[in-house]
Amino acid sequence: MKQINHIIGGQEVASESGRTSNVHNPATGQVTAQVGLASVAEVDRTVAVAKEAFESWRTVSLARRTSVMFAFRDLVDRHLDDFAKLLTAEHGKVLSDSAGEVQRGLENIEYACGAAEHLKGEFTQQASTDIDVYSIRQPLGVVAGITPFNFPAMVPMWMYPNAIVAGNAFVLKPSEKDPSVNTLAAELLQKAGLPDGVFNVLQGDKVAVDRLLEHPDIAAVSFVGSTPIARYVYTTGTTNGKRVQALGGAKNHMVVLPDADIGLAADAAVSAAYGSAGERCMAISIAVAVGSAADPLIAAIAERIPTVTVGDGMDESSQMGPLITGEHRDRVASFVANAAGEGATVVVDGTQAEFDSDGFYLSPSLLDNVTPGMACYDEEIFGPVLGVVRADSYEKAVKLIDDNQYGNGTAIFTRDGGAARRFQVDVDAGMVGINVPVPVPVASYSFGGWGDSLFGDSHAYGPEGIHFYTKAKVVTSRWPDPATSSIDLGFPQNV
Ligand code: NAD
Repeated sequence: MKQINHIIGGQEVASESGRTSNVHNPATGQVTAQVGLASVAEVDRTVAVAKEAFESWRTVSLARRTSVMFAFRDLVDRHLDDFAKLLTAEHGKVLSDSAGEVQRGLENIEYACGAAEHLKGEFTQQASTDIDVYSIRQPLGVVAGITPFNFPAMVPMWMYPNAIVAGNAFVLKPSEKDPSVNTLAAELLQKAGLPDGVFNVLQGDKVAVDRLLEHPDIAAVSFVGSTPIARYVYTTGTTNGKRVQALGGAKNHMVVLPDADIGLAADAAVSAAYGSAGERCMAISIAVAVGSAADPLIAAIAERIPTVTVGDGMDESSQMGPLITGEHRDRVASFVANAAGEGATVVVDGTQAEFDSDGFYLSPSLLDNVTPGMACYDEEIFGPVLGVVRADSYEKAVKLIDDNQYGNGTAIFTRDGGAARRFQVDVDAGMVGINVPVPVPVASYSFGGWGDSLFGDSHAYGPEGIHFYTKAKVVTSRWPDPATSSIDLGFPQNV
């Protein structure tokens, strides 16, 4: 049985905690590896190694730090297929989707390669008489990343490239469900010339997270995962004096106005709801059909669902793979099973499909007449289930979104530029798509939702990522002639 270990100080280290977690191949249901779960002592050792590495990494020139990122970028690009295969084997998503995920991660590495621009300070000459003022941004120290199962390569890449290039040391605590891709990332960072100890991978669960949240040498925590844990991480981390950004769950609504191209909107809804088996925080889980859009939209989506090929992600003909675990598959199926009892209409029931495998498969489901108050509306299902809410008007569609606890992404499908422009201003969500169903910002912008989709005031990656991993300092400088020096007890005036 394959053992998945920590990477501490550039070395693979087996956990001695005696606690392990099974890693599955979701396509077969088989256990393929065991990951060792860190003890408190293992967290402490890792943080100590990272702290020591930070002391010298922070003094390395920006030019050198950037060149490591360029080399890493090249290595990830060359190993894209290796990443994708590892990822599909443990997550289940189809190979093309795994490659796409790594490609989006690569964008973030490329952004970090531009650190010379992003870390520039400001300078004001002669701000006051004979006084110059300038600002610099310095690294925080040892920072931690705690990441979810659904983007095991990309979400960590939202974090560590920017953190490391800014001069921090990083401790990554990936999801215990599909951790292997990060061992490969650590190997490639080492090959790229990153000194040992600057990037560490600590395998673990709540024990490791809790210790990281209270450890005095952890300066900041970036978290991505479900809302209850995001709230907990934010509250605990900030109580312990850390800088925390904690991104949570989502329930993303796609509004379809009556003037929309229904075929285009249905294609987008099917892609965004069932891609990666709905296990995306930016998946569309609710379509809000306004007025006369509803009947043709539901018919068009229902017509497309049988064309989606569900199967092993390694098989190039599959378009949708299995879910992450059997337990999660059963939870997702229970929302469909209970939907009719709550008053929704089950248009397509994907839970009844038969598969010639013990993998964690479900086919796509479509629910109509969904309303707030039903579990299939209120809860984040995180599976291939699309609910349709019928709304009488644009105003009611927007109010529905604004009243929802989450505010990650949203989208509008229309041919009316005025309505789209109004929507982008009116709607309460952090990321908006106009005829784009999954509006994940490119790496030169930052990613983050509103409401219970994000705790903290800093979004992930891009400019806000750089900002999060650095602290600002302002220097006021004067080189006076000692001959003119005198005592002045007054508060300094700007003249
Ligand atoms: P999760 O919250 O179960 O786990 C996330 C991380 O927290 C993992 O590393 C896990 O080991 C750790 N963890 C789990 N339970 C914990 C506990 N009780 N105490 C401390 N740490 C704990 O999330 P998941 O199931 O891995 O991922 C899916 C969730 O992540 C969905 O809700 C999805 O919407 C969300 N997500 C959000 C974004 C975003 O950008 N907003 C992106 C991806 C995923």
